[in-house]
Amino acid sequence: MRLKIYYLALTIWSIASTETLAQKTAIVCKQLIDGTGKVFQNAAIIVEADRIIAVGSRNIIPKDATITDLGDYTVLPGLIDAHVHPFIDKDDYQIDHLRKTSAQKALEGLKHMQDLLLAGWTTLRIAGDADVAYAQFDIRNAINKGLFIGPHIFGAGHYISVTGGGGDINFLSYEQPIIADGLVANGPEEMQKAVREEIKHGSDWIKILVTGAFMTVGDNPQDVHFSADELKAVMEEANRRHKPVMAHAHATDGIKMAVRAGVRSIEHGSYLDEECIDLMLQHGTYLVPTLSVGLFFQERYFNSKALAKAVQLGKHGNDENTKNRMLSLAIQKGVKVALGTDNVGFPPTFPAREFAELVKLGMTPMQAIQAGTKVNAEMLGKIDDLGTLEAGKLADLVAVKGDPLTDITELQRVKFVLIGGKIVKHEK
Ligand SMILES: [Zn+2]
Repeated sequence: MRLKIYYLALTIWSIASTETLAQKTAIVCKQLIDGTGKVFQNAAIIVEADRIIAVGSRNIIPKDATITDLGDYTVLPGLIDAHVHPFIDKDDYQIDHLRKTSAQKALEGLKHMQDLLLAGWTTLRIAGDADVAYAQFDIRNAINKGLFIGPHIFGAGHYISVTGGGGDINFLSYEQPIIADGLVANGPEEMQKAVREEIKHGSDWIKILVTGAFMTVGDNPQDVHFSADELKAVMEEANRRHKPVMAHAHATDGIKMAVRAGVRSIEHGSYLDEECIDLMLQHGTYLVPTLSVGLFFQERYFNSKALAKAVQLGKHGNDENTKNRMLSLAIQKGVKVALGTDNVGFPPTFPAREFAELVKLGMTPMQAIQAGTKVNAEMLGKIDDLGTLEAGKLADLVAVKGDPLTDITELQRVKFVLIGGKIVKHEK
């Protein structure tokens, strides 16, 4: 009994003022953006336990419902970030990975994820992370068991990399017996084994570094790292096990190769060209452009030695005009652009800048909101539960004070967060 009380205390203590809604609750607000494209004024959303049972005008409020009045706030679906690394929070992240035990990563990672939840991110897709022992899935399992409050977690344990690639450690001498942060594999057989390891330890996505990366030392994002046979081996194994693949791909040829092989999403897509765009349209591939990480490096890490290569490439190696023009064209042509930030230790309100970046590239505020809600839920294969505010879905929602359809930066100032029918934040 004493143990039970202790757990309860920990659960509540671990996140500010968690409050489960009464059995049937009507949340009322000035405006409601349901994620499907519809906007309601003077709206009500009826929640029972962890699910939404109705959305509409205030005449749907049942007589026995308790009212949670959000006044002049605008309600939206809970935000989904499709590209995060909750264990990375230092510029020298590959050294930091060697400093910390898996347990320490889990504790700090849980705190990061809870901070993100309080900022409105109710679902995260992890794009592989800097822990060899899959601590992110221990966090996920503990949240799912109800031991802690936290976002819904999907994704990959590791980024699978070739020797010398973005998941390998390339700056120490040959003699050092190093455990890399990524999962290093070479040749079709090792790739197949790597996919099997990932699935065995809890990954529901497979993340591969098809090309070089920005953040690591010694590799070039404009080089393709995977051979055709290695990519084929990953895809065959992942398809057999019904696990979608997300491909980190900067180099133009790497993007094309991954799209043709049938990955579900291209991450970054920095050196996109028109043929890449047309191939993505043909194959129905999602594009996760991860724009805010570049901003973060320019603003936070412009003097960092560890990230000197990424900062330099962000400034000069990757012609911003061409990249932005290509991303705008992708949006215009109808590529399924999903919202992901590449969060590597951002302050909690920072990732919502991704919405404004997508608007700068030509999305309407409504399209940007959908990229971070509905489109991401579709990409995750979780549209029956997540991504829009409709009857039957999980009661995950956020509210902001102003109107994000006229000022998209409102999403950086989330005032109210409900996840699975539990209030985790309510600022008046
Ligand atoms: Zn990433």
